[in-house]
This record gives sequence, structure tokens and C-alpha cells, in this order.
Amino acid sequence: MTLLDVDDLRVRYDARDGALHSVNGVSFDIDDGINYALSGESASGKSTTAKAILGLLPDHAEIESGEVEFEGRDLLALTPSERQDLLWEEIAFIPQTAIDALDPVMSVGAQIRQAIQTHREISERNARRRARELFETVGLDPGRVGDYPHQFSDGMRQRVVIAMALALDPKLVIADEPTTGLDVIVQDKIIDNILQIQEETDSSLLLITHDLSVIAETCDEMSVLYGGTVMEQGRVDNLLLNPSNPYTMGLKNAFPALDDDPDGLVSVPGKPPRLDEKPTGCVFEPRCPFATEECATTTPELRELPYRDQHVACHNADRAVRMRREAEAAAT
Ligand code: ATP
Ligand code: MG
Repeated sequence: MTLLDVDDLRVRYDARDGALHSVNGVSFDIDDGINYALSGESASGKSTTAKAILGLLPDHAEIESGEVEFEGRDLLALTPSERQDLLWEEIAFIPQTAIDALDPVMSVGAQIRQAIQTHREISERNARRRARELFETVGLDPGRVGDYPHQFSDGMRQRVVIAMALALDPKLVIADEPTTGLDVIVQDKIIDNILQIQEETDSSLLLITHDLSVIAETCDEMSVLYGGTVMEQGRVDNLLLNPSNPYTMGLKNAFPALDDDPDGLVSVPGKPPRLDEKPTGCVFEPRCPFATEECATTTPELRELPYRDQHVACHNADRAVRMRREAEAAAT
């Protein structure tokens, strides 16, 4: 069963210095029980895609086109109160900066209790107990539920937000870079937390991260974004073993990626595009070593490769794959 279906999503920001076409036709779907990753370099449109799905875009953003369905419901047509209910009960969001999700003047335990009590008929006593349980699940000392957000370290705050997000057994958890900026040991623990809870609650996951090693560890399927466009899509094991878009190949060169500098992962020379105008041709063309004339003029559609459910948006994928395989064979 398809849980989340995103179809041809296009988002533009109208910033002071002009328009920015940040998401340019993103499509993917997540089935029940699947862990899905959205990957790609900084500014590729990952957070914007998540915010569009959740209805959390700022006022100066415009969803130009596209459909977003959650269990068949049109998410883009929800009223604010319908969205409020859905957000807590069915889709949980762990934002890129955990501190944004917390109220600085309320104890974290009170915030978790409030989230539960707004949506469930539950006594104060049971809500308190649930908050302590959730603390334990994410590896925090339940004795600290009365503490305030500023009393926790970044990693602990991230866990508080995870505990809060999971309080209502959501069907889908959307986590935007939940481990970026944390040290590697804390990162591992948080990923373990998310996976453990997910197993317990049977929810699906949309994990946004540029870290391919985290994806390899946690996710079943993925899309690779660049310039607000899906460059490649498929099963994680196939895609990482057999990247078919030159952009994915470039990302993968930095793999395995146990590096604390997030930007150190990306080995593709050059910079992401500034999309003041809608891209014509392939967005990666200016940086692509395989680019031909066609790439500058014709946008490649996402097409199915003749193997293993993999989809790629590249005119020259066949040649790129052949050359990659030759290089790999020569290296062994
Ligand atoms: P990162 O890995 O750095 O989090 P991302 O893939 O999440 O990157 P987005 O935050 O979606 O990328 O940004 C995509 C593009 O949209 C970027 O060019 C960014 O500058 C622009 N953008 C993002 N948020 C806004 C905003 N609130 N107003 C204007 N432009 C924005
Ligand atoms: Mg982001």
C-alpha cells in the first residue's frame, strides 16, 4: 500500500532578490513499512520538499504544481486544523534544527505531555508515565523530564524531539538531517533510536540526509536530488552498488562517509546551480563530465533502467555506467 505519494512537485521561493526555483518536478512514493531516503548535496531541495509535504513552507514560497497524497488524502488541500491533527497523529516531523521544535520556556516533559493530551483522552498521570517511557526509549534519563530545552546538549535535544515525534505512534516519520552536526557516536545512537522505535511502531520513515553511509544502514529505497530534480531513484542496495547517474557516481566517490565535515562527503567538483530561472536541459549539465549537447537543451525524464527497478534521469546513463564498470574492472 502506498502511504505517501508525491507527484511532480514544484516549489518556487519569491525572495527579495528574485525568484528561486528550488523544487522542479519531484516525484516519489513511499509504501507502508518502507524506510525512504532523500539525498543530495546542500541546496538540492530536500528540506523544501519535506516542508511542502508537511504544509510548513514560509509565506513567500509558492507550490507551483504537483500533488501530495497521504493514504489517498490530498495533503495540499487540508485546512489548517486538519493539518494540525494530521501532523501530530499520523505524520511526525523531526526538523533539521531540533531547537526549532521546542518551546524554550516549558519543560520538555510538559511539552511531550501536552502533545499527547491534545490528541488523546489520557489522564495527567498516564501522560506523565508515557513521557518518562519515551525518554527511556530514546536513551535519556527519565529523571530529567522536568528540565528545560537549554539544559540539554544538542544531541540530547535531538532525542527529546524524537521522543516527542513518536509520542502518538505516527504512521510516517519525516526526519530532516536528524544527526547532522552531532558527533559520530551520538549519530549512531540516534539512528539506532529511530530504527528501534520504528520497528516497535511499524511506521514508515522519510529520512533526509546527504550521508550515504547512514542511508545504507537504515533505508530500503531512495531518491537522489540535485537542483530540485530527482536524478536517480531506486532500491538503496542497487543504487549504491550500481549508481547510473553521473551525479550519483560523484556523490558515491566520497563513500564510505564517516567524516565529521558534512561538505567533505561530496566529491563532485563545482557548485550547485542557482536556480533563478527554471532549468532548461539537465540541471547537472554544467558540472557533468559526461554531458553532451542534448543535455544542455533537453531535460532528461526519469526513466526505468533495464535492471532492478532503478530509475535514472540522464541522457547518457548507459555510457556512464559502461565507463564506470570499465574503470572498476581496471582497478581490481
Ligand atoms: P541542506 O542540505 O543545506 O539542508 P536542502 O537540500 O535541504 O539543503 P533546501 O533548504 O530545500 O535545500 O533549499 C533549496 C534551495 O531553496 C536553496 O537554494 C535555498 O537557498 C533555497 N531556500 C530554502 N529555503 C528558503 C527560504 N525560506 N527562502 C528562500 N529561499 C530558500
Ligand atoms: Mg535541508
